[in-house]
Amino acid sequence: PGFTEANAGWQRQYEKAFSSVPSPEVARALDAELSREPGLTTTSGDWRRVQRIVEHFRSYGLKPEIKTYYAYLSMPKRVSVEMTAPDRRTLPVKEKRHPWQKHFDDVIPGHNGLSPSGDVRGEVVYANYGRPEDFALLEKQGVSVEGKIVLARYGAVFRGVKPREAAKRGAKGVLIYSDPADDGFTRGEVYPKGPWRAPDGIQRGSIAQIQLAAGDPQTPGWPAVRGARRIPPSQAPMLKGLVPTTPISYGAAEPLLRALKGAEVPKEWQGGLPFPYRFGPGGTEVHLDLENTFEVRPLWDVVVRIPGSERPEQEVIVGAHHDSWTYGSSDNLSGTENVLQIGRGLGALLKKGWRPKRTIVLATWDGEEYGLFGSTEYAEQRAGQLRNAVAYVNMDGAGGSRFGPSTTPALDQSVIDATKEVQWPGTDGTLYEAWKKQNDGKTPIGRIGGGSDFQAFFQRYGVPAMDLGSSTPGSAGQYHCACDDYYWMSHFGDPTWGYHTAMSRLVGIAALRLANADVVALGYRPYAAETAKYLADFTEEQRKRLGSVVVDVSRSVKQAEAWQAAAQALQARADEALRKGDTDAFRRLNAKIMQTERDLLTDAGLPGRPWYKHQIYAPGIDTGYATQRLPALYDALFVDKDVRSAKEYEARLYRSLRAATRTLAPRGDG
Ligand code: GLU
Ligand code: CA
Ligand code: ZN
Ligand code: ZN
Repeated sequence: PGFTEANAGWQRQYEKAFSSVPSPEVARALDAELSREPGLTTTSGDWRRVQRIVEHFRSYGLKPEIKTYYAYLSMPKRVSVEMTAPDRRTLPVKEKRHPWQKHFDDVIPGHNGLSPSGDVRGEVVYANYGRPEDFALLEKQGVSVEGKIVLARYGAVFRGVKPREAAKRGAKGVLIYSDPADDGFTRGEVYPKGPWRAPDGIQRGSIAQIQLAAGDPQTPGWPAVRGARRIPPSQAPMLKGLVPTTPISYGAAEPLLRALKGAEVPKEWQGGLPFPYRFGPGGTEVHLDLENTFEVRPLWDVVVRIPGSERPEQEVIVGAHHDSWTYGSSDNLSGTENVLQIGRGLGALLKKGWRPKRTIVLATWDGEEYGLFGSTEYAEQRAGQLRNAVAYVNMDGAGGSRFGPSTTPALDQSVIDATKEVQWPGTDGTLYEAWKKQNDGKTPIGRIGGGSDFQAFFQRYGVPAMDLGSSTPGSAGQYHCACDDYYWMSHFGDPTWGYHTAMSRLVGIAALRLANADVVALGYRPYAAETAKYLADFTEEQRKRLGSVVVDVSRSVKQAEAWQAAAQALQARADEALRKGDTDAFRRLNAKIMQTERDLLTDAGLPGRPWYKHQIYAPGIDTGYATQRLPALYDALFVDKDVRSAKEYEARLYRSLRAATRTLAPRGDG
């Protein structure tokens, strides 16, 4: 679909030629090389990693460019967690080294990126996953966290939500630990015998408030180039409302949990350690001493442009972050290696004289782990050119057996079609068939929320985006741990390197189709139908929570239906143009198709978080990763409880849906 009959044959040939290039041997060799030393953003290991990526792109005949940005971030200088009662012991804050792990001194100890420094002492309260509803239950139990150290387990929501909620209620500090029930021995054999988290495994990770903005915290909305204006950290939305926070292992958390007094927790709160958990406080105390160095440091994206032969100003961007908390074989050298393999494939085609019709941009981003720094600064710098971006394709964890895509609804069909072209390792069929088998005959596609480099592209600039990931069961066990290394990947994640290779092919094919299509395959009919459904859900939610409908969205529902009809009619005209090979019509249709996702943005931004502009999807305020549909309406009405603001946002949404309908209308494309 999207090609004239003649061009479809041509495209097929090139997809075949491309697909023959990525290989398991290359994936394995790249990972062995790139994961030899840790690649924490802005460090010398990261810089050496960047140099290696550049050299590989060059060896494929491509011309990589390093783009430097400057970001405000934390590095741990002193991390000390001490149990001071009932007895005194120093709790471990870093994993033990395994013999195959090189440069282990460069693996930083447990660190929650952008946590404030602080030296605090207090009694401990256990807060389950640290969500608003968990703190609400503590309150109901009569347990206050004021002046206490909160001990929360990882999981359920983005980790940055936990210290925010604890801080709101007056906690002095937060320890976030990995419970064995979530990713340790309760689940299966632990590293290095199995993929799951060992007692010493620590999940590092940023606690920046990415629900509010992304990128360098001091330049929300503009590029952090040399000399850029910077807001003071005290005014940065991403740094708001935090208290000293650090991650620990379940080995370190165990003596605290064991000593805790107070009532026993309900069974949903019970973790995997072999004794009943209690709320606290009482029984134990902690001295938490964190000294983090904050400074503005340079970081480096690697970007390759392969200019299009017909529409060079229109870009398909494929990206993956190359920085990692530790060695990063899985997160995210897997994605980086796949981008390299796509470069290798395209390089081979270029040597044969082939050119994509549109420009293909291959990027490996830096600084994702602290808050999507490299991708966001790049997008903010190129905001103007991004109006001509056809799509952004992201990979973050793309070397495992289970396929898990998230997209804009406009790209659902593109993903489905591409999965039919790729053989899936360990099966005798395609990824499409394996994907269905893994999901009881369904092909579930998530909607883009928070947590990786698609955010600026999609949620700020309205570039249609897809996030194509795959992971092997047990992956949670190595997440942001020293054990995210070559050993883990080659023993448990992808021992044959076949999944890496298949993912390179998948993403390469998807990108080549978007780059070469006569009519770009962005489908708005399902998008409009979903939007109408979200609106109906919003009305239902009002009935449920408020007992009546205070924000009437019926005109928006009607408009979404009109949008759907317009999309269907446009599809018919596109099919006709493809039959006739009408290249003038292609040009006009593509302009409309590309505009439509942009129509869904609002200049005003979302309530309380103006950096975010997409009105249909955003990261949830209370979830961080999980997607909030119609975020402006839900946040205004149910979070801010501001009916007037909700009505204003309904008017904005209505205007956007009308614009999208008009964009797709026949006028001017005949
Ligand atoms: N993907 C990273 C994480 O989950 C970065 C999230 C973010 O700060 O946006 O920790
Ligand atoms: Ca910025
Ligand atoms: Zn990642
Ligand atoms: Zn990560």
